[in-house]
Amino acid sequence: MSGLQLQNISKRFGRFTAVENVDLEVPQGQFVCLLGPSGCGKTTLLRMIAGLEEQSSGRILVGGEDVSGVPTHKRNLGMVFQSLALFPHLTVGENIAYPLRIRGVERTKQQERVEELLNLIHLPGFADRPVSKLSGGQRQRVAIARALTLSPKLFLLDEPLSALDAKLREAMQVELRQLQQKLGITTIVVTHDQREAMTMADLVVVMGEGRVRQAASPVEIYRKPADAFVADFIGSTNLLELSRDGAGRAMVLDRLLPGIAAPEGKAQLSVRPEDVRLVEAGTGSLSGEVTFVRDLGGTIETFVQVGQATIVAVTTPRERSDLKPGQKIDLELPADACVVLEK
Ligand code: ATP
Repeated sequence: MSGLQLQNISKRFGRFTAVENVDLEVPQGQFVCLLGPSGCGKTTLLRMIAGLEEQSSGRILVGGEDVSGVPTHKRNLGMVFQSLALFPHLTVGENIAYPLRIRGVERTKQQERVEELLNLIHLPGFADRPVSKLSGGQRQRVAIARALTLSPKLFLLDEPLSALDAKLREAMQVELRQLQQKLGITTIVVTHDQREAMTMADLVVVMGEGRVRQAASPVEIYRKPADAFVADFIGSTNLLELSRDGAGRAMVLDRLLPGIAAPEGKAQLSVRPEDVRLVEAGTGSLSGEVTFVRDLGGTIETFVQVGQATIVAVTTPRERSDLKPGQKIDLELPADACVVLEK
């Protein structure tokens, strides 16, 4: 069953088009991350799904039902948006129970639901704590619980973890994903953090300038990026100009690259740093010189100048830790790790 369908959604602010012709089908129960650089239209798209912004054209369906003209409070949504802060003068329990209280649900039912949700977010016994005494991570969990109080059909979150420090954010990504899987709720999260998207999502939607550049599983986005924008935005990559020799064979940096089919038009080659192999000078297909070594402890990034290009290779200290700037080195770009991106 379909959890969410976006059909040809566009949003114009005056003459400016913030979101353009977005088509997306999200199966029920999937976790989607909207990912892209600042200003690409992620938040605008999420706000249209929420009904906080009206689309200029197109249709939005939740569970097969057209909600295009339906006001936010009737769309059966759970929302964690920065603008929807917790009520600071209420306790944790009162915050979580709030949606039930304003609907006149009886007190014992409210309490049961609060207990249930506190267990779910790993904060049992926190009902009577004042919100003002919570840590950042606890506060965000309570905001998540409050959004889930009414068992919504669709869960929408806008940069929910961005205020947390890096370690806590990574832990919360795992927690949020596990919670979502437990509940099986269709979830759409806006983020600009590609690691976050890779951690949580079934479906990553990469946006650029208001358009969907690619929508696919995290692994597919990483291994088979649709274009140079996606390849460069998701993880880091080496982008090299691809050309053809007289016989139509693929060439990179004036060298033949066996095993790669070069298209007729302009194209680039994307090779992930972890796929670049460093071999002894004189034994590989590309020859260069080490210009910089960034030793991050767990991994080592080696920058190699080959002609006009700098190619980055990532290795682990066990594989290689002896390289120094100025050293001659050869590179191999394994054909099965190279992605041809046509322009
Ligand atoms: P960020 O990651 O920085 O939040 P975003 O991808 O969420 O960016 P949006 O907030 O959706 O981007 O904005 C997309 C574009 O639309 C931006 O250029 C923004 O300035 C513009 N925009 C958003 N809301 C309005 C508005 N109400 N009126 C005019 N322009 C707007």
